[in-house]
Parts: sequence; C-alpha cells; structure tokens
Amino acid sequence: MGNATLGTTVIPGACPHDCPDRCAWLVTVEGNRAVKLAGDPDHPFTRGTLCAKVNHYLDRVYSPDRVLHPLRRTGAKGAGAFERVSWDDALHEIATRLRQVIARYGPTAILPYSFSGTQGQLQSDTMSGRFFSRLGATRLERTVCGSTGSAGVEATIGTTVGMLPEDLALSRLIILWGTNTIVTNLHLWPIIRQAQAAGARVVVVDPLTTRTAAAADWHVRPMPGTDAALALGMMAVIVAEGLHDAAYVTEHTLGFDALKDRLAEYRPERAAALTGLATEEIIRLARAYATTRPAAIRVLIGMEHHATAEMSFRAISCLPALIGAWRERGGGLLHHTMALHGQALNGRALRMPELAAPGTRAVNMMRLGQALTDPTLDPPIGALFVYNSNPATTTPNQNLVLRGLRRDDLFTVVHEQFLTDTARYADYVLPSTTEVEHWDLFTSWGHTYVTLNRPAIAPLGEAISPTELFRRLAARMGLDEPYLRESDEDLIKTALRSDHPYLRGVDFERLLATGWAPLDLPQDWLPYATGQFPTPSGKCEFSSAALAARGIDPLPTYLPADESPAGDPERAARYPLTLLTPKSALHFLNSSYGNSPRHLAAERAPCLDIHPADAAPRGIAAGERVRVWNDRGAVELPARVGDRVRPGVVAMPSGWWASLSPGGSSANALTPDGMTLWGGGGDFHDALVEVERVSGAAPAPEPE
Ligand code: SF4
Repeated sequence: MGNATLGTTVIPGACPHDCPDRCAWLVTVEGNRAVKLAGDPDHPFTRGTLCAKVNHYLDRVYSPDRVLHPLRRTGAKGAGAFERVSWDDALHEIATRLRQVIARYGPTAILPYSFSGTQGQLQSDTMSGRFFSRLGATRLERTVCGSTGSAGVEATIGTTVGMLPEDLALSRLIILWGTNTIVTNLHLWPIIRQAQAAGARVVVVDPLTTRTAAAADWHVRPMPGTDAALALGMMAVIVAEGLHDAAYVTEHTLGFDALKDRLAEYRPERAAALTGLATEEIIRLARAYATTRPAAIRVLIGMEHHATAEMSFRAISCLPALIGAWRERGGGLLHHTMALHGQALNGRALRMPELAAPGTRAVNMMRLGQALTDPTLDPPIGALFVYNSNPATTTPNQNLVLRGLRRDDLFTVVHEQFLTDTARYADYVLPSTTEVEHWDLFTSWGHTYVTLNRPAIAPLGEAISPTELFRRLAARMGLDEPYLRESDEDLIKTALRSDHPYLRGVDFERLLATGWAPLDLPQDWLPYATGQFPTPSGKCEFSSAALAARGIDPLPTYLPADESPAGDPERAARYPLTLLTPKSALHFLNSSYGNSPRHLAAERAPCLDIHPADAAPRGIAAGERVRVWNDRGAVELPARVGDRVRPGVVAMPSGWWASLSPGGSSANALTPDGMTLWGGGGDFHDALVEVERVSGAAPAPEPE
C-alpha cells in the first residue's frame, strides 16, 4: 500500500500476538514516527477492529520503558542492575561464552527458549531455529499450547482442519467448548451473534462463568478436566436413544461397535458423577446436539492444559461424526485453521528442520525449571538463550524456574522489548524491535488470510529483530552458511515459494500491494460430507490402531489427572481446591502488557475467585486478602466471592508478572510442570491448592 499523502504514509501490517484473530492493521507514519495504528477496515475477518490490548500498540512502541540498547548485568541475578554496552561488545562476549560452553560440555549444553512473543513466520523461530540447529543445541519442545488439542483431534479425524469459522453463521446450535470467545477470539463473536440472531442456540461448556458464558443461552459447567467424560456421556445418550446418524457412521467411521461397548461405561448417571453435572443436563445437552441441524462445536484453549487434554479433544471430536454433523455447512468441528496455512506455505524451506541432527537432545519447555536445576542432567544447561518469551512468568512451577535462573554458573541471554521478569536474570539483555519496526509474514490459527507485515518505521535506538540478531550472532561465531545470511524479504519469498493450490495467486508482490490475501480454498467447504478423513483408514476413527500401537487406549476414554481430587485423594485432602489459571486476556496477552501502566490500570488487580460454599467455612469475605498455597509456592491476593466458579474450584489470572504482583508472586508459583497423559503438553491447569484468610484487607476488583 504505502499511500503517501501530504508527507503521510500508511503502511499495512499485522498484530503479532498469540491470538487466533491475526488482525490486519494500518500504521500511519509521518517522517519516521508512527502516529496512528488502527485495524484495516477492508480485512474481511477482522474488519478494522483491534482489541483492548492492542488498540494502543504505539504506546508500547514508544514506551519510555523499552530496552533500546544492549545491556550487561552489573548486580545480582534478578536485581535488575545493568549497564549499557555496545552491540560489538555484547556480541563478542556472547559468542565467546557460547564457544566456551560448547568446548566444555558440547553444544547441547545450550538451550534456546522461545515461544509466541510473536507468531510471525520469520521472527518467531526461523533464523534462530537455523542457528541453533547449526550449532547442535538442545531442541526445545514447544508444547505449552495447542499441541495437546491438535493431537486429540488428529487422532480422530486425521487433521485439525474442520469447519471454516465463517460457517458458524449457518449453525443452529453452537457449542463453545473451553473457549472464552468474546475475550480471546473477539472477531469470531460477531459471526456467532449473527447465527444467534437467526435463531441459533449458543451453549458454553466451561467451568468458569466467563463473559462468553454469561452471554450464552446455556452455560454447562463441568469440573475442570472432565470434558472427555461429558463427551462420552453425551455419546452414550445419543446412541442409546438412536439419535446417531447410522448411515454416516456406517460409511465414514471406524470402530463404532467398540465405541458402543465403551459407552456402556459412561451412562449419563456415571458421566454426571465424574463431571459434577446433573444427569438431566447431560441428557438435555446430548439431545439438543443430536437433534439440531446444523450443529457446530468450537474447541479452543481451555482444555489444553489438563493432563487429560488429548483425550478430551479426541472424545469431543467423535461427536460430529456420530450425528453426521459434517454433512452440511454450519455443522462439524472448528478447531484450528493453521494446518491450511501450513499446507499452503513452504514452511520446510523456511525453517529447514533437516538442519537438526537426528537424536539431538530435547527439553520440554514446560520443564524449564527441572532442566535448569536437575543435577543429573548430562550435559547440564550451561547457556540459556531466551527470545520471544518470558518464562519467569509464563512457565509453570515458577519458583523452580527462578531457582534455575539464579544459578551463578548459567550464562543467560534475553532478547526483549522490555526488562521482563526473565530479563532481570540475564547476563545480557539485547534490545528487540516491535512489530512496526521489522518485516514478517503471518498465517492465522483463526482464519484463512495470509498477511504481510512491513516495517513502518526504522528500529528505535539500537533494537534489532530476532532474524537480524541471529544473522549477526552467526557471523560473529564464524558461521557463514548462506542460509544464515538470508534477508527478511528473501525469507518471505522462500515461504511463499509453493505450488500448493491454496496459495494460488498469493505472492510477495500481491501482498506488498494489498497487505493480505485469502487462501484459495474450494468453494462450499465441506471436507468430510462424504467421508475422506485424512486418517490411516480414511474414516473418522472412533477406534485408533495408531494410538493402540503407542500403548494408548484406542477408544475415547476418561482418566482423572494425577493432580485432581479423583486422581490423588491423599493430596486432595491437603489441598482440596482445584485451581484454574485462565489468561488475563482482556488487557494482557499472556505476559505481554503486564508492565504497561495503561493495561495494569485497566486490569486493576489479580484476585481469587472463590465460591461462597468454599469461602464461608474458611471465614473469607469478599475483598479480604487470602493466601493460596501448595507445596510449590504461595500467592497472596484479594478474594472475589461469588458463583463465577463452582464449589471446589478457585481461579486466578495468569500473565501477571510476579515482580509487579501483590506479594511478589503470581499464578505459576502454584502450577505443576508435569506432562499430559499422552506426553504432548503441560498439565498446569491441574493444580490443587488450599486457601486461607490472612490479616489485612484489600479492595476487591470490579468484575471483569
Ligand atoms: S491480540 Fe488478537 S484481537 Fe487483539 S489485535 Fe491482536 S490479533 Fe487482534
């Protein structure tokens, strides 16, 4: 675009955050100063609206708190004392220290740590991935989000691709299962409202009374982590009452007879006992789902962080095939659109996964604390390189992570925009660009548009992008392979060099001109109306031989998490309340904006939601300060007493920086760093805690 009018230029770009909506935006620039940033009104999905988090993105860009120069630590780790140094000195020292670690322990003693500080194809993990693979560093398994849900859905229908989001407008029953759409998937909500206005019924399944639950026609509130039991109970009702689509099941599914036998274990009375729901509510939900056409289920993040996550997604994914919901538009399952982008773009050429030597050691990102403190880890982690991430806040078992970050013998580099809680422990903090200062290319996990992000202004201070950082560091370490020198524009062209039909008509020049372009998907998107699931059998697999081969139950089932009242009654006797730590997603994005005065003021203060039935016996009144604890840590904050949670469940927001939280501790001080039952993600929503009143009161925050 780049419309130049009277010295003013408008540059198209995209919001980089960990959010399915991937808003297209327009940046108005005068000279080298961005003076306005607003949503692109022409974008068909995001339609010119940014969320409350990002509306003032330029405050972030021009914040006086930005790190704009390389910094070297001068005080104790965590104290936040640094001195400014030149890039030349910083790169020299970092390259030297990395070489020393490699010489002493080998390259796997280096651990890169990153996640979704940006979700851009370039800046998230392209040049960095090539660089660390070339070094032979430990691989980071990035499974904090998404992977568990994808594994469960893929085991059932062979892919995460189902309905298109726009087709929810055609639905007549929409079940939003584990997703606070209004807050975390803002631009899907108008489509749901459109369906609602046309007569659709909206059901929310969520243990918490979120904004979305409050706006729904029906809120179903199971105990956390019991979603598979609910889905199995619904299936049991549907089959027992003959409400399933027998023809679709016969032609397009595998293992129905075995599933039927399994459903005998999940009669609605038992499902009710497992989920804490009323038997009648499970029966009503099953009947409504099976007898309304088209019927859609939208699944997202809420269930991903339980030990039972994969099986929950798997059980829910069976429902659309059971009732033949895939037959018509507006019916089926909506999970991620990312796989469509993944097929279209040339991700392999971009990320070059072949550079990682087979068998290279891997550390799961959920277990950073364990990796940094395990005395038996061989070789130990000698150097930690953090970018696009703030693990001191976002990683479970926070106190163990902080213990690891305090290690004197750990060399830590953090590439950041702000002095985060993680950066305070770094030996070197390197200044990172914001989204208006660098190139990127974006896919989306919530819609089907590819978006180009052009730098609107020159980088502030001495900030550089992640791609530029790893190009410079590679050169400083004497690595001169051409793939470590590729420019950002060439990287974008590499990603777009694809002959996949979905990318037909989308190239760099078109994106330069328009900012975004739709994937070229077939009209009348009905991928499984006549079967053809991309599973080994070509059918929706109620029974999966692939899972059986991995030693996993081939049928959907429900198993309680280890850290749950049913999984560990002894622990539950000490810590009787289940803690949920949902995102503070209205004003924070994970831990981003957790230091912004505007966002902190809007978010007010973190509080603990507790039901009156749990507050009363503990002598806790609304607004009183409480201590929430288990054997991993403790957090103090005000209580909000009410029915936003069900009895037995408490909730506090994640994303708050511990250094800026009342009492100096935040939600992840309490969360476990175990793995899910299939091993594909973290179980940090399975925390058990106890709560007590402490002296001194604090005013309760306003309701969300
Ligand atoms: S965080 Fe999400 S909704 Fe907000 S501007 Fe970014 S992409 Fe849009």
